[in-house]
Amino acid sequence: MPRVCVIGSANVDYTVALPRLPSPGETVSGGTLLVNLGGKGANQAVAARRLGGEVRMIGCVGDDADGRRIRESLAAAGIGVDGLSASREAATGTALIMVDAQGHNQIAVAPGANHRLTVEMVAPYAASIAWADVVACQLETPLAVVRWALGEARRHGVTTILNPAPVRPLDPEILALVDFLTPNEHEAAHLTGLVVDSLESAREAAGRLLALGAGAVLVTLGERGALACGAGAAHFPAFPVEAVDTTAAGDAFNGALAVGLAAGGTLEQAIPLANAAAALACTKRGAQDSLPGRAEVEAFLRSLGGSR
Ligand code: ADP
Repeated sequence: MPRVCVIGSANVDYTVALPRLPSPGETVSGGTLLVNLGGKGANQAVAARRLGGEVRMIGCVGDDADGRRIRESLAAAGIGVDGLSASREAATGTALIMVDAQGHNQIAVAPGANHRLTVEMVAPYAASIAWADVVACQLETPLAVVRWALGEARRHGVTTILNPAPVRPLDPEILALVDFLTPNEHEAAHLTGLVVDSLESAREAAGRLLALGAGAVLVTLGERGALACGAGAAHFPAFPVEAVDTTAAGDAFNGALAVGLAAGGTLEQAIPLANAAAALACTKRGAQDSLPGRAEVEAFLRSLGGSR
């Protein structure tokens, strides 16, 4: 089984669906509450697990009911949660989301325990990094932890993926530890200072990130798929779907990419798998709930077999 270790965030999302979004100081009543589990780390771990990976998660939740709920849910999905610490110093990461009838949203995030993760807390789980075929990180946990995890992976010859979301400046020392950097267009623009809105500009931004030390750069381009840049550049178009909610599309892409690479696949094999998982995630509402299983992705790829 392909082995994936995710070092990242886990959150609880409280979403209130409202007829319209409130203005500052205003109260809008009549909403309905939905409670979902999220956080890029947990989403990517679940995405990888549903696609058949053996997955371990390293992160930090609060020592509270939400934290226990996350641990139980990930464990029930078959994800190893020994490396998920419980902090007494902060609450479980929480997102408060308001969404109106048109699907527009406002989101406030309290990272809480995710930001309490330290190298001292994760170091006892170094064996899980050495165990993995692929290590996947994002930027919702402290950079010191990301740097440590990527460094440990490199030391053990484990392939590394960094999804630079939410975006923040990255020094060349971190980029040099990344085998596959997976920014979306906005993140690629932020990391390079370039405008990224086309294949050409994505290729230029990827070139800058390669020059800064990343091993390969996969720019995700929403409904245009992904552009992979390394020694050469290759565009992998998205699969056509009726998109109803693109939440967690990036997480589905990264989780699937991790499994595809952990299974020993080439980018030519892993990126179509990632595009397919991400496209299917766009056809359902929600984050973790929308992440597809292996059989669904394979049936989808077969159904497209004739046209590609
Ligand atoms: P993020 O969700 O991180 O903003 P993107 O918008 O680039 O990232 O989407 C990630 C991936 O999801 C894309 O590379 C593509 O595979 C898939 N995707 C996103 N939007 C669509 C869409 N409308 N139709 C099909 N696939 C999509």
